[in-house]
Amino acid sequence: MYERILVPTDGSETAEAAVDHALELAERYDAVVHTLYVVDTDSMSLTLGAEQLDRIEQGKFGEMDEVRERAERATDYVADRARERGLEVVEHVSAGKPHSLIAEYVEDNDIDLVVMGSHGRSGIRRTLLGSVTERTLRSTRAPVLVVDTDRE
Ligand code: ATP
Ligand code: MN
Repeated sequence: MYERILVPTDGSETAEAAVDHALELAERYDAVVHTLYVVDTDSMSLTLGAEQLDRIEQGKFGEMDEVRERAERATDYVADRARERGLEVVEHVSAGKPHSLIAEYVEDNDIDLVVMGSHGRSGIRRTLLGSVTERTLRSTRAPVLVVDTDRE
């Protein structure tokens, strides 16, 4: 049923809660776990120049260690939990619009299931779903399992 499960993460607690669900399913179905962090270049466009943004989008973080570290911390969390369970895991960091790159990753890697948090780092819960989750639901045909820590 599920061979490749994607956990998009922004390093938030809610995204981490989704990890447990993803790993439980991965074990059950003997699936490979993929984890993706997208450096949100839109949200950085106010503080970074065009040239810096271009470089990030090409995966060249240069002196922007903080950006890279945050990304790697988030995907490492998922990868470490997966390896503890003896699961195979693929870590990926990219830069651009989070929902577009999540949808693209699903297509390019033949992902069968996406498991993500209802909310993320912004921590504001005015809406039922965060914008990345809502847009991912709209832009991918893969089933999406949404985990909400407030409802667990
Ligand atoms: P908003 O960003 O709309 O203000 P929010 O931060 O509370 O609200 P989202 O950003 O939609 O909510 O986060 C929901 C889930 O989407 C997260 O738990 C995570 O699984 C995924 N996600 C969010 N941002 C990223 C990102 N940059 N890269 C990968 N996955 C992400
Ligand atoms: Mn967010």
